[in-house]
Amino acid sequence: MTTAIATDLSHEEAAVRDLCRDFAAAEIAPHAAQWWLEERCPTELFPRMGELGLMGLLVPEEEGGAGLSTVGTVAGLMEIGKADQSIAAAWQAHLSIGSLPILLFGSPAQRERWLRPLVSGERLGSFALTEPGAGSDAAGIRTTAVRQDDGSWLLNGSKTFISNAGTDISLGPVVLARTVDGETEGFGAFLVERDTPGYTTGPKLRGIGWHALDSRELTFEDVRLTDEHVIGDSARGLSQFLAALAVGRITVATLAISLTAAVLELALDYAKQRQQFGRPLSKFQAIQFKLADMATELEAAQLLVYHAARLRDAGRPFDKEAAMAKLLASELAVRSASEAVQIHGGYGTMYEYPVSRFYCDAKVLEIGEGTSEIQRIVIARHLGC
Ligand SMILES: Cc1cc2nc3c(=O)[nH]c(=O)nc-3n(C[C@H](O)[C@H](O)[C@H](O)COP(=O)(O)OP(=O)(O)OC[C@H]3O[C@@H](n4cnc5c(N)ncnc54)[C@H](O)[C@@H]3O)c2cc1C
Repeated sequence: MTTAIATDLSHEEAAVRDLCRDFAAAEIAPHAAQWWLEERCPTELFPRMGELGLMGLLVPEEEGGAGLSTVGTVAGLMEIGKADQSIAAAWQAHLSIGSLPILLFGSPAQRERWLRPLVSGERLGSFALTEPGAGSDAAGIRTTAVRQDDGSWLLNGSKTFISNAGTDISLGPVVLARTVDGETEGFGAFLVERDTPGYTTGPKLRGIGWHALDSRELTFEDVRLTDEHVIGDSARGLSQFLAALAVGRITVATLAISLTAAVLELALDYAKQRQQFGRPLSKFQAIQFKLADMATELEAAQLLVYHAARLRDAGRPFDKEAAMAKLLASELAVRSASEAVQIHGGYGTMYEYPVSRFYCDAKVLEIGEGTSEIQRIVIARHLGC
């Protein structure tokens, strides 16, 4: 059964999708269960993905990237997400919030210094917004960067749940902070390189899903930075981040549709081979209806995700559609994973069955990069509320 919608992909987009499908089958799927149980981020994958040109998909060719469309990125991410949600989560964070602030707002010197190693896969990108006391309310962050008399900045505060910042190949996060520069106050984004004095990372956090994603608490104690570390405008960092976040919503929505496609396939296969009452489960109407609903909603969610991606590629506004895609797809993923486990019965709750992993991974999709409530707030705002 194919769970990919018939969408018009260019030759290049289809080639990236096929490359990702082959890479996932050879290098990811055979190890996914082990990484999940070990709760280890296999960072050795990313330089290999860099050699294949996969670590800078949205970065233009003149900056060393693949210059691929958002649609092509969705098609590729779909393939990795069906194999392993943690790896797909790390990769999408790198491609979107980890790289785009530097691409879109960094100076030529900053792009040369920091974007190049991200695109090659030598380094992993991350963005640090969330704090112990502020997640949904981005403007409520307490981390501060205060301009000193000698022109430097002093960064203090802490962040939590930050993906990709604490691995052996992390570049170091782009950190959103409140800035105080004389009389001027605002929000600025600062690239804090991994070995900067005063910057420390906590142990890898353990959660119900995305076990192989490296997510940590970060602490900044009198971290001294210069204007070279300011990405974009030192007072307009919040709006810059929101621009990257809108793309992150499309990529997280893609994780969600890839998860739904994966669990649909697993549930369908299982329902065809598992016999009860002398017949395969797939012959019972109650099971058929679950599968039919899942397939129908998946098709609708995929259309919305690709629609948001196409709008971005056409240079048109896509904020509302990205929020709608993330909302619809992530809630669908949670429902579908639950039904897929139900179809597997007791086996579905066991770690040997991949459907159990997808079930645990699904919930994070409704929370990361803006909760469902926040997506509804964004959509309602677009409706004029
Ligand atoms: C695995 C993982 C990886 C992550 N990676 C990153 C990362 O790389 N970088 C990063 O910066 N962050 C990251 N996050 C953080 C994530 O973006 C936040 O968890 C998320 O934005 C929610 O923030 P919070 O956890 O502080 O919840 P809160 O903001 O405290 O929200 C708690 C609940 O209240 C609801 N709520 C809040 N405000 C409203 C409102 N106005 N109206 C209605 N309901 C509301 C929320 O929807 C939620 O249900 C990650 C999180 C996870 C779990």
